[in-house]
Amino acid sequence: MLNSESWILKRASLTPFKIALIDIQTNRQWTYKELANETLKWLNVLQKKGLSKGSRVALIAENSIDFFPILFACGLGGFIFVPLNWRLAEKELIHIIEDCTPSLLLTDHKFEQLGKRIFQHTFTLQCSEEKADYQSTSMSGSDPWLMIYTGGTTGKPKGVVLSFDAVNCNALNTIVSWGLEPSDCTLNYMPLFHTGGINALALPILMVGGTVVIGNKFNPEEAIRAVNDYKTTISLFVPTMYQGMVDTDYFKESTFPTVKVFLSGGAPCPKTIYDHFAKKGLQFKEGYGLTEAGPNNFYISPELAAKKKGSVGKSMLFNSVQIRNEEGAICKVNEVGELYLQGKHVFTKYWNNEKETAKSLDNGWLKTGDLAKMDEDGDIYIVGRKKDMIITGGENVYPQEVEQCIITHPQVKEVAVVGIPDKKWGEIVTAFIVSKNPSPEMKDDILALCRTQLGVYKVPKQIDFVEELPKTHVGKIDKKQLIERSV
Ligand code: ATP
Repeated sequence: MLNSESWILKRASLTPFKIALIDIQTNRQWTYKELANETLKWLNVLQKKGLSKGSRVALIAENSIDFFPILFACGLGGFIFVPLNWRLAEKELIHIIEDCTPSLLLTDHKFEQLGKRIFQHTFTLQCSEEKADYQSTSMSGSDPWLMIYTGGTTGKPKGVVLSFDAVNCNALNTIVSWGLEPSDCTLNYMPLFHTGGINALALPILMVGGTVVIGNKFNPEEAIRAVNDYKTTISLFVPTMYQGMVDTDYFKESTFPTVKVFLSGGAPCPKTIYDHFAKKGLQFKEGYGLTEAGPNNFYISPELAAKKKGSVGKSMLFNSVQIRNEEGAICKVNEVGELYLQGKHVFTKYWNNEKETAKSLDNGWLKTGDLAKMDEDGDIYIVGRKKDMIITGGENVYPQEVEQCIITHPQVKEVAVVGIPDKKWGEIVTAFIVSKNPSPEMKDDILALCRTQLGVYKVPKQIDFVEELPKTHVGKIDKKQLIERSV
C-alpha cells in the first residue's frame, strides 16, 4: 500500500500544535508534536533493550494516553505490539504470554507486581528521561504491527495478527467512508487492548489529525459529562454502556450539542436505545465489526439509519461484503447466510494457529461466523452469531430477534436469549431477563408479547429473572457463561 507505517511523525509535522490526546483520569494532554516526541523516546527505550524486527512487545495497562506512544514506537521499530486484557486471570495471561513469547512485557504501576510474577523481562512504564532518538527500520505494508487477542466470547483467545496495511487501510477507509475530519473529537472508554478501543475510532481520528479523549473506567454519568465537557463529535460505546447512560437522570437533561453521531458496536443494540437518542434529535448508528477485519466494515447514512433501525448499511468504500449460504452460494434477498468480508483491512493470520487461520480465510475472504441478510436495497442486517443460533425441534431461532421483541416490554432492562440443551427439543429457547419489578404476571405479559410478534417456535419456553447478566471484558453479554450455568 503506502509507505505509511511512520505516519505519526508525518502527522506531527503537519499539525504539531493540535491536541492529539487527552487523558481524563490524569488530566494530561499531548499535542501531536508531544506525542511524536514521546513515541521517539519509547522507540529509543525499546531499541536499547536489543529488540529486533518482529519481536513482540506485550503490555498490561489500564486505559491511558501512554498506550499510544508505545503503539507507534513499535510501528517505527518493526516490533509487534501485543496489548493484553488486564481483566484476564493470571493463568490466562500466562497462556497468552506463552503463546506470543514477547521479548518484553510492559506494565503500568498497577500491574507491576502481576507482570513480575508472570514474566521475567517485565518493565514498568516510565520513559520521561529518555532521549527522543532512534535508528530507522525498513518495513513493508505486509509486516505485522499489532496483535490483538480476541475476547474469547466463543472460545480460547486467539492472537489476531494485523499488518501495517490492515491497520492503516481500516483507518483510511473509515476516514473517507464515514467523513471524519480534523475537527472531530472522540471519547473512548473502549478498552485499549480491544480493536474497538484502538482501531474503531482512535487511530482513524489520529490519522486525520483530530483529538482522542481517553477514559479509563466506564461510568455512565462521567461518560455523559465527558461527551459534553470535551465537545466530542463522534464516539463509540457498546450497547450495555448505552443502556447504563440512558438509565441515568443526567442523560434526560443532556442535549449533547457538539455530537454529530453516537455509534454502537460489538454486539446487537436494542432498538429501544435508538429511540432514546432519536427523541433528542440525535444521530445514532449501529456499526458491525470484528478484530479480524477492521473492525469497521459498513456505512449507513443518518437518514437511512433512522428509517432502517438495526441495519448496518452497505460495505465501506474499500472493502466488500458477501452473504453465502451453506453451499457457498450467494444468498438471495432477505435470505440469512454467513457474512463474508474482503479487503486490505483483513487480518494476516492467527498467531501460531494455522488450523484456525485456514478455517477463517477462504481465498482472501474472511468467514466471520456471523449471520446476516441483505434487503432489496442492498442494506445489510446482522442477524447474530452462527454459534448462538438455537435449533429447537428442528427449527432455527435467532436469539437477537427474540431479544429485540422482549426488550420492548417497558419493565425489561436487559435480556439475553440462549438455547439450553434439552432431550426433547434439542435446545429450548430460554430468556434471561433483568428487571426492576419481576413478577409472575410480567412473565405472562412477556409471553403474550412474544406470541403476538414471533412465530410460535420462537417464543421462549423458559423465562428466568436474574439480578444481572454476565458480561465479557468489553461489556458484551457472556452467553457462554449463561448456558454453562444452566446445564
Ligand atoms: P471471540 O471472537 O473470541 O468470540 P469477541 O466476540 O469479543 O471474541 P470481537 O472481535 O471483539 O470478538 O467481536 C466481534 C463480534 O462481535 C462479531 O463477530 C459479532 O458476533 C459481534 N458484533 C459486533 N458488532 C455487532 C453488531 N452491530 N451486531 C451484532 N453483533 C455484533
